Amino acid sequence: MTPPPLFPLFASLAGRAVLVVGGGAVARRKVAALLPTGARVRVGATDLEPQLATWGAEGLIEAIRGEFDPAWLEGAWLVVAATDDAAVNSAVADAAGQRRIWANVVDDAELSSIHLPARVERGQVQIAISSGGAVPMLARHLREQLETQLDDSLGALAELLGRARSRIRARLPELPARRRFFDRVLQGPIPGLLRRGDRATAQRELIAALEHQQPAQRGSVVLVGAGPGDPGLLTLRALRVLNEADVILHDRLVSAEVLALARRDAEFIEVGKQVGGDHDATQARIHRLLVEHARAGKRVVRLKGGDSFIFGRGGEELEALHEHGIAFEVVPGITAAIACGAYAGIPLTHREHAQSVRFITGHTRDGDDALDWAALAQERQTIAFYMGVSGLERIRDQLVAHGRAASTPFAIIENGTRPEQRVVLGTLADLPELVRSHSVGAPALLVIGEVAALAASLHWFGSEPLTAGGAGCGSAAGEFARAA
Ligand code: SAH
Repeated sequence: MTPPPLFPLFASLAGRAVLVVGGGAVARRKVAALLPTGARVRVGATDLEPQLATWGAEGLIEAIRGEFDPAWLEGAWLVVAATDDAAVNSAVADAAGQRRIWANVVDDAELSSIHLPARVERGQVQIAISSGGAVPMLARHLREQLETQLDDSLGALAELLGRARSRIRARLPELPARRRFFDRVLQGPIPGLLRRGDRATAQRELIAALEHQQPAQRGSVVLVGAGPGDPGLLTLRALRVLNEADVILHDRLVSAEVLALARRDAEFIEVGKQVGGDHDATQARIHRLLVEHARAGKRVVRLKGGDSFIFGRGGEELEALHEHGIAFEVVPGITAAIACGAYAGIPLTHREHAQSVRFITGHTRDGDDALDWAALAQERQTIAFYMGVSGLERIRDQLVAHGRAASTPFAIIENGTRPEQRVVLGTLADLPELVRSHSVGAPALLVIGEVAALAASLHWFGSEPLTAGGAGCGSAAGEFARAA
């Protein structure tokens, strides 16, 4: 039969005696969780592990050595039984029950009159999760999910609002008005200001909101790098702002899997640039949309592939926002070169092969060749070409003409980090022909340098690298070993 549900409580333990029975690692973890509450912790055990012994010697806890004695419970409000002896744990629970002292028996829901939940903490804000002792792993799983979703600035938000509590009550004595006020504040710019670490402005905004009661609706823009495609490569911060967004302006390069993680009722607007389209007109439209939606008080996320500041025109967008006085934040993303290197088994730098790495784009503002080929042709460096499926002849010819060996290895990574990732390996001499023979398409990243050859042995993700002749470069035996 399912037991009746537990009643959740948060206990104030400051200055109150709490007994922990047991002297091992489990007891130590419970003591460590109890100490910050200000509880007077008494630990009773036949033996104390070193940390507990130290805390005892320092006077942080009261340590009693010996077999469990019900007299230890004297004056305690709460007891935790954390020994590895079921009989002792049960005796502790019994003795506590007779004295009406709440008892938690570690890993024994039935013997426990009180449960210690899984917890998520952000300053004074605590979320406690319990499965009633039935499935502790489920509670732990939920805890992990909440950890990823709740920003660290939540603690600062609680502190700010907590300090203003009496002022808010005095100003808005009626509950419905207070509720509307909090809704407005929580939807408004203050949480963003705290994420940006600007407590002073957040404080001023709060006071202004309280004085005028109808604060000007002020939106903001978060420029977010979505990474190269694999949703696992989003940052926690990116995930959190995606979950709070009202409007998401995204590039075509942002994968569907990433978009699926965003808030469902956000408005999604694709603002991708088509090859051959009028990029400046598209960019102007993006600036206009960002400003319009932010002005309308929306929380706007501008989501770009990779990192916004690496060939992403993120700088221009921030300049436009700055010009219009719109607040913004930037969340970095994993750029294609870093991600493709990692997922193809290509360390971009390597003590023996490359001491530096350059990120290059073939596309420049006026389209003509502004690249310093002599510098690019230098040895012992890795070059990562973005937008690199076109102009491959030029890249090979210029590098070789400026002295880079025709035998220099290259790797081209198509759809890096995505399930359909393909890697083609070869040498500079036959770069364009090889890439064409495998019909490599966009998006693809070209890596040139000695390190590219390491993909033949260090690749670990997706299909085997392709080489001249079209076959995978691993032997059949190697492939078998990998599969086994
Ligand atoms: N801001 C992005 C780059 C935008 S430019 C970033 O930081 O990654 C677009 C180019 O990035 C593409 O032409 C391609 O060269 C590269 N790219 C982006 N995603 C890629 C992926 N998943 N696999 C391979 N190359 C990618």
